[in-house]
Amino acid sequence: MSSNIESVMTAQLLSGKPFADAIKSEVAAEVADIREVYGFSPCLVVVRVGEDPASAVYVGSKVRTAEELGIISEHMHFPAETTQEKVLEVVSELNARSDVDGILVQLPLPKHIDERMVLELIDPKKDVDGFHPVNAGRLMQGHEALTPCTPAGVIEVLKRSGISIAGKNAVVVGRSNIVGKPMAMLLLQENATVTICHSRTADLPGECSRADILVAAIGRAGFIKAEHIGDGATVVDVGINNVSDPEMARELFGPDDLEKRLATIEKRGFTLVGDVNPRDAMEKAAHFTPVPGGIGLLTVAMLMKNTVEAARMRRKLTK
Ligand code: NAP
Repeated sequence: MSSNIESVMTAQLLSGKPFADAIKSEVAAEVADIREVYGFSPCLVVVRVGEDPASAVYVGSKVRTAEELGIISEHMHFPAETTQEKVLEVVSELNARSDVDGILVQLPLPKHIDERMVLELIDPKKDVDGFHPVNAGRLMQGHEALTPCTPAGVIEVLKRSGISIAGKNAVVVGRSNIVGKPMAMLLLQENATVTICHSRTADLPGECSRADILVAAIGRAGFIKAEHIGDGATVVDVGINNVSDPEMARELFGPDDLEKRLATIEKRGFTLVGDVNPRDAMEKAAHFTPVPGGIGLLTVAMLMKNTVEAARMRRKLTK
């Protein structure tokens, strides 16, 4: 934008709800179709160990959504002191059950349990979180795979919003196995030119501000600021962080949002904030996914989609 008059862009907010709702109704229709043609409903089992309150909320939402869509769901909850051997035994039993299409072990597991060992024991055909190395490898090689739900949800939002990916500069900040790396692979599969940034990237503002599509998956509230955002970029905020300091809220939110956020901090003790400074993103980006109400809503919808996909692939059902 070259103009002497200072112009302030207002990004279009990409709310996750309409996309999540559309995916869920497509999944419900597919489940009904499977039931009619093949006489069964796909089955998802969620395993939870311990009393982490956030995990309890996430699992509740997964089980409830599955039931709403006609997917059979089981919630297996074990006390925090459950041994690693017991958890491995449970996963082996679920692997062996022919009626189970999807197995999800809710993370984090208590410290005495080796998460990697548990996740690697899950049958890759039932790995609806897409975290098994076989699925990660298949994604990397561009083969059919169960892909991690959050990055797969980002691709759905971009495509369903009509934002083209092919040939675009996509920058992903974060290189975790559950978000950053699979996000980069999915964008590459969609023919973007992809850069992956992390805590050792030398010039983060320089790398990020060249992005047509910027995905932030860092875990630091409001970390991505105006200097990281190119004019007219699409900014996807995957981060979910709790902010309890009213001063920090004042730095992040403009007059439209601030009063509501301060009231939430007062009432609940915190407000949910992404990895991107929303005030800066609204001024510089063309599209921006809000937190809450953005990508977070897609994760459960994509889990449901993966469960049906897992049933189709493992049972060799045709569409
Ligand atoms: P993670 O495993 O902690 O990874 C964070 C990544 O950010 C790392 O690769 C780290 O780099 C990078 N990073 C940290 N500080 C940085 C800095 N100063 N500059 C550049 N990069 C930096 O986190 P995650 O599991 O990927 O999650 C990321 C965020 O997404 C969190 O807020 C999480 O709550 C959220 N999340 C949301 C959903 C959802 O459903 N919407 C799902 C999963 C996660 P290094 O590798 O160099 O350390």
